[in-house]
Amino acid sequence: MDNQYHHSSSSSSSPSSSFGSLTVAERLQKTAELTGLSEEHLAQLSEPSNLKSSLANHMIENMISTIAIPVGIATDLLIDGREVLAPMATEEHWIISAVCAAAQQCRETGGFTTSASGSLMIAQIQLLDITDPHRARLAILEHRSEIAEMCNACDPMLIRRGGGFHDVDVRIVGSGEARQVVVHLIIDTRDAMGANTVNTMAERVAPKIEEWTGGRVLLRILSNLADRRLARARAEWSLEAIGGAAVRDAIIDAYRFAEADPYRAVTNNKGIMNGISAVVLATGNDTRAVEAGAHGYAARDGRIRSLTQWEKSASGGLAGSIELPMAVGLVGGATKVHPTAQALLAVLGVETATDLGRIIAAVGLAENFSAMKALATVGIQSDFMALHARSIAIDAGASESEIQAVVAAMVGSGKINGDEAVNVLAQIRSA
Ligand code: NAD
Repeated sequence: MDNQYHHSSSSSSSPSSSFGSLTVAERLQKTAELTGLSEEHLAQLSEPSNLKSSLANHMIENMISTIAIPVGIATDLLIDGREVLAPMATEEHWIISAVCAAAQQCRETGGFTTSASGSLMIAQIQLLDITDPHRARLAILEHRSEIAEMCNACDPMLIRRGGGFHDVDVRIVGSGEARQVVVHLIIDTRDAMGANTVNTMAERVAPKIEEWTGGRVLLRILSNLADRRLARARAEWSLEAIGGAAVRDAIIDAYRFAEADPYRAVTNNKGIMNGISAVVLATGNDTRAVEAGAHGYAARDGRIRSLTQWEKSASGGLAGSIELPMAVGLVGGATKVHPTAQALLAVLGVETATDLGRIIAAVGLAENFSAMKALATVGIQSDFMALHARSIAIDAGASESEIQAVVAAMVGSGKINGDEAVNVLAQIRSA
């Protein structure tokens, strides 16, 4: 971290709080100033269609084009005493302003405090045709050091980075005909998400597992239930900041709904992932891997629950917390390949994948705070519809100078739909 912005701060007013009133170019310039962005990264972010066909063609098969998604900055985030600008790639209104508002409202109480359980990923080896699974289990565990050596030999670079084999676990799952032995290789993948890394290790170890047990290996693949790679964040909001005890209690009641009812829990967690997936995508990470891990973790005791918890704090305020698997990397996948992901990682100023995961957890908590607060008080529909009106106005053909008037007319009349946008636009143009 070689710039002022990434150093600690305890101020309740953020240097980034005026972002909303700036033009797009000014916001980018300010982001560059605050984070010490290089000229190269600044140039990359200045160009909205910033992925060359030649590069995209190497990333996927049958490439024909690219699709641009807006990237915005979540401001006012004070995370572990450090000012953070979080880039978020999303096509949905409200998601970024929700994080900013939540972050602003907990600055007085110290912002977000985060932690992580480490960077351990799990590779699974499925073993079939075993008549005596308990014997097989021990036969595998007896070869722990050999397994460690085989895994570590796969990736000397990872070992140099302090990662590699951590442990081996053997589980017996299913019953009757379906009973099978499942080997877990637990690997520290450091700053890589680690899917390819651990899959390679599982493939290397599999023939030996067959040899030691007499069984037949079928699948060798990582688990996206990365429950040994948890990111956590907590924050407290004072009653003054949120608007009183009634708001706190309403948020806690709304949380109890998500805890008690899967229909609500899934929507609650989707809202959390609005924030999380936006940072995951902006940094070139695998959104599906993080989403699968989050939803699986939320359902780990057999029923899906909220990824966040909300409670009355000891001082009478509102305490929020989040914990979820966070399989993200700074190397591997698209993180290093996509130049925009590289520039946005530079905006974050993180040095390890674990630090990235901790920030993402804080963004998820912030997202949930604002959604819960809006839903439990005024409702979100009026805000959403006002924002939605912009899209409808653009869709109806309103130019940059006409959008505001079309939106204002639709919001004023309470008729926010395509027909009304066309009517209003015609009136404006004929006036
Ligand atoms: P990768 O294959 O590029 O491997 C990362 C490598 O980077 C490591 O093996 C290591 O040798 C090297 N490295 C350099 N510096 C490092 C550091 N500081 N820490 C750790 N390693 C360092 O990438 P990966 O992370 O193994 O795989 C991620 C990709 O796999 C993503 O694109 C993901 O979409 C994809 N994937 C996902 C799944 C899944 O989620 N189920 C399955 C298969 C593939």
